Amino acid sequence: MATTSVTNTLRTLHRHHQQLSDLHGRLEAGPRQVKACKLQLATAEASLAEILQRAKGLRMQADQKQLQLRSAEQKIVDLEGKRNACKTNREYQTLEEQIAADQMASRVLEDEILELLERADAAKAEAPAAEQLVSAARERLSGKEAVVSQEKSEIEGELTRVGASLAEAEGELAADVRSTYDRVVRGKGADGLAAVEGESCGGCFQKITGNMLSELILGRLVACRSCGRLLYSGDTRSSAEDA
Ligand SMILES: [Zn+2]
Repeated sequence: MATTSVTNTLRTLHRHHQQLSDLHGRLEAGPRQVKACKLQLATAEASLAEILQRAKGLRMQADQKQLQLRSAEQKIVDLEGKRNACKTNREYQTLEEQIAADQMASRVLEDEILELLERADAAKAEAPAAEQLVSAARERLSGKEAVVSQEKSEIEGELTRVGASLAEAEGELAADVRSTYDRVVRGKGADGLAAVEGESCGGCFQKITGNMLSELILGRLVACRSCGRLLYSGDTRSSAEDA
């Protein structure tokens, strides 16, 4: 196999591996983005539920106190009946005092009911804004799901296309080169290959020996002694541009 051919093929293979790695990264990012949107929606829904629950709780407390107030008022009516029917002055006085105390207690209860209703209304007033956040989050989620699903089919198409180009380029490797390449790439993927930059490995930036450079120029397969990447010439001036 010609000198430029091995190095050019490795360069092409490296590019394809990097494209595949990038495409896989994008494919995995989609579901993560959808998950983040789902989390935002769940948070907004929980916040709305808390507001509604709080408003409901306050209204229930107010209702309970309304019942208490009604029975207290009934008790006052009964006491007033007794007072009007009583025989002695002392009895009249006692009932009068009890009625006054009960009326005072009822007024306190009325104030408490009013306060609870005001707080329930205030809580309820928070709901529309929280509902808006929920619907905005829901819209964002469905928008993101649509985009991710669209991108997924595009990315999968690209993966098929690049995978075919990769297989084609791999077919150009001589059998002995191929077996080494397969072994290295199986473990490391795109990180199994590196361009020589100056006199260093483009992967780990360790200097390579003059002997290795000569081997490379002769078209032999050279692996970086430091990181194990298969090296190809980074200099494309002397060879046909395959981009
Ligand atoms: Zn290296």
